[in-house]
Amino acid sequence: MRTEILPLGSDSLARAKELLLAGELVAFPTETVYGLGADARSDAAVENIYRVKGRPSDNPLIVHVHKDYDLSLLVEDDRSYAAKLREAFLPGPLTLVYKSRGRVSAKVSCGLDTLAVRVPSHPSAQEFLKYVGIPVAAPSANISKHVSPVSAQHVYDDLHGKIPLILDGGACSGGIESTVCDVTGDYPVVLRQGLVSREMIESVTGKCGLYVPKAGEQVRSPGMKYKHYAPACRTCLFEADEIGKALTCFYRNRDAGMRVLILCEEAAADNFPSDSVLRLGNTAEEMAANLYALLRDAETKADMLIAVKPHARGGVMDGVLNRLCKACAGEEK
Ligand code: AMP
Ligand code: MG
Repeated sequence: MRTEILPLGSDSLARAKELLLAGELVAFPTETVYGLGADARSDAAVENIYRVKGRPSDNPLIVHVHKDYDLSLLVEDDRSYAAKLREAFLPGPLTLVYKSRGRVSAKVSCGLDTLAVRVPSHPSAQEFLKYVGIPVAAPSANISKHVSPVSAQHVYDDLHGKIPLILDGGACSGGIESTVCDVTGDYPVVLRQGLVSREMIESVTGKCGLYVPKAGEQVRSPGMKYKHYAPACRTCLFEADEIGKALTCFYRNRDAGMRVLILCEEAAADNFPSDSVLRLGNTAEEMAANLYALLRDAETKADMLIAVKPHARGGVMDGVLNRLCKACAGEEK
């Protein structure tokens, strides 16, 4: 299959709609990462997503709709605090998990009685969703467990030959996946951290939980149990105060003939040889925006990536750290 990359316009939108209604997949930009979209109402189309990505069949998908879409068509038992969250943060990088009305393919939620819905703020995503008019099921447009794509080229690198169309809306500004928040209970519970932080949600609703899976328990957000976001090169991860150890690791591996790069916050960059440093930036928002492009850059240039955690904690930084740890943890130093 030939994969076309087309800028968003009347011709490409018409083609995208035609493909989606025929059960095919279309990648599209959002303010977080690129999504791999399918008609959420069609079992066959949704199955295509799992097949093309190699995604585990128990990892549910988020349904994307435009800002004027009537949510009550898809979900029920809407809580009053959920309306406040929509008012405060949508359109934007916040996915809300509601009780489902069962109007989309059961494969979207992998048999759960809930449905995750997102209204992206990216103008091209809005234009695309408005034009096609249907609920679009979309995970990130990467091969399962690889780093999420933040440009049309990243999508192409992972999925060319497997999907017919990528709508190009330039680089994503947000950079990490949406916050996922369960709104089925008496108060909201964050299932996945992201650019809308737990603190931001709490400031609107007064209370907000954070779901931390316990060993042996059935997880509430199945996607969280998988290792994600990993670059193709070897990785290892050091704490913010382990600069000395990170340097030792750098020289040991470089002297053994490896191409080694270091990923760290701006404030730590001067500790390392400047031609070997990938700079995440200063603020949590900058780091979120830069992280995935740097991970994808690293895997093409290095045999090994040494990541050093930033110092700050809380707010958006928790989402950045979650992704950094999932991408780079798990190997012996
Ligand atoms: P991705 O689209 O790859 O960013 O992953 C979607 C995330 O949303 C995963 O972590 C899923 O576990 C989570 N998710 C999707 N639908 C639901 C749902 N109905 N209940 C809980 N979590 C969900
Ligand atoms: Mg994903």
